[in-house]
Amino acid sequence: MNPSSPRHSGPIDEALLVVPVEQATSSDGSTKTLWRLHDGNQVESLSFTLGGDGSTAVPDERIATPVRDSRGHVVCVSSQAGCNVACRFCATGLQPMRRDLTAEEMVAQVRRTRVLEERTTPTRVIFAGMGEPLLNLEEVLRAVSLLESDPGVAHISVSTMGVLPALDTLTEQAPSVDLFLSLHATTDEVRTRLIPLNRANPIAELLRAAERFARAHGRVIDVSYLLFNGVNDDDADADRLIGLLDPRYFRVQLLLWNDVPGLPFSRVEEDVVERFRDRLVAGGLPTYIMPSKARDIDGGCGQMLTEAAKEHRVNRANKAMLPLV
Ligand code: SF4
Repeated sequence: MNPSSPRHSGPIDEALLVVPVEQATSSDGSTKTLWRLHDGNQVESLSFTLGGDGSTAVPDERIATPVRDSRGHVVCVSSQAGCNVACRFCATGLQPMRRDLTAEEMVAQVRRTRVLEERTTPTRVIFAGMGEPLLNLEEVLRAVSLLESDPGVAHISVSTMGVLPALDTLTEQAPSVDLFLSLHATTDEVRTRLIPLNRANPIAELLRAAERFARAHGRVIDVSYLLFNGVNDDDADADRLIGLLDPRYFRVQLLLWNDVPGLPFSRVEEDVVERFRDRLVAGGLPTYIMPSKARDIDGGCGQMLTEAAKEHRVNRANKAMLPLV
């Protein structure tokens, strides 16, 4: 834990731990909140609803899986201020890593959101905002433990790029969480270019660790696959994915990348996503398309970025980049 982020032992005033600086509401009803921490650092969280109104329902009816229902209110929380994983497609990864968040700062993002939005129905918490949760595992595990006893929290999920051996520690110490593993590529060559962390955490080893999680807890893992136009979206990728993922342990969540100006990617067309999904389903792999959230307020996948970091983003994006394929 970073020494500048002291662990809080007594009663905590959550209203002071994370102070809302700015809120933006998307046309789809999602709300992004920018929080200021006690030391001036800033992080973002996203609040949205899945299902219920029919417009954003995950099409779960097309798959049979023991994974828990993911409908309802969701808060996507940040676990770090900044991130040093530097995924090539991610705005957060383009800003400097400031520090790990404490468990209390993560929990406060959830509780303050519920208060500000006057939420009365249970919330599903996903550690998928700014930061890589497995690189701040001790505090994330403490946050999970605190949230497990919160009556306002229904489910807890951890979304990771995959860090070994932290993934096995999560398996041992957080049996209640659902796991989302971000794969985004079907070969180590492409994945390493997208996610430099892949060099030390190659696909085969990650999937073996994820299978251990699935077998230990009897739950299917959601494999997130962000489609990039011309990078990882062709039939050969779909076929490799079918070969990599055992449908007893995995289902695929397809995501559409949200444009980040200055980054060398483009969003795929809807028909490409549907073709990709249909090929996976035909190959026996349970697959669903995750509705894009909060595109118009920079709150979607890879878009979490504090205002203070935008200049840094532009500077980084202007530097020479390796070709992806
Ligand atoms: S995608 Fe996640 S792990 Fe990768 S740079 Fe962004 S915040 Fe970090």
